Amino acid sequence: SDYPQVADGLIRAIENWPEDGVTFRDITPLLADPQGLSATVTALVDEARAFGPIDVVAGVEARGFLLAPLIAQELGIGLVPVRKAGKLPADVLSESYSLEYGDAVVEIHTDAVTAGSRVLIVDDVLATGGTLAAAVRLFERAEAQVAGALVLIELPALRGRDALVDVPLTALLEY
Ligand code: IMP
Repeated sequence: SDYPQVADGLIRAIENWPEDGVTFRDITPLLADPQGLSATVTALVDEARAFGPIDVVAGVEARGFLLAPLIAQELGIGLVPVRKAGKLPADVLSESYSLEYGDAVVEIHTDAVTAGSRVLIVDDVLATGGTLAAAVRLFERAEAQVAGALVLIELPALRGRDALVDVPLTALLEY
C-alpha cells in the first residue's frame, strides 16, 4: 500500500459476514483511531485534489457518509447525500442496480447539484461497483460532471473498476 499509516492493522477482516463466504472489511477500528482517521482524511483529500477542481462531494449511504463530510469540509465545499430508496423528502432521481438477490435503489434530490458542476463521489468500499455506477448515473442524469470516484478500499477480485469505465477511480487500499 502507498498508505501504510492508513492501513496499519486498522481495517479488520470479518469472515463470513454478512453471509457465508464473504470477508467483510470493517473500517470502524480506523475511524476510532485518531492518528488513523487523520491520516486517512489527509490521504483522501490529497487524492481528491488530484482529480482537479471539484465543486461538491457526494457521500454514498451508509459508510460513505462517514468519510465524505470530512473530505468536503477540508476542501471547503458542500456535501450531497446519495441515499437508499425512500429516505429523501423532496423530489428525487432514482437509479436501481442489481444485488446478488434482487435490486437496490439509490437516490439524490433533483436539485442536489447544479448542471455542469464537478462532483466527487465517495464511498468506503468498492466491491462489484454496482453502487458507485448507479451513483454516477444519478449525477449524469442531473447533468453534473463526475470528476472522480474515491474509495478507501477496493476489492479488485470483484472487478468493480470495470463497472466504472468512464470515471476516474482512486482507492487508497486494496484487499
Ligand atoms: P458494490 O456495489 O458491490 O461495489 O458494493 C459496494 C457497497 O457495499 C458499498 O456501499 C460498501 O459500503 C458496501 N460493501 C461491500 N463490501 C463491503 C465490505 O467488505 N466492507 C464494507 N462495505 C462493503
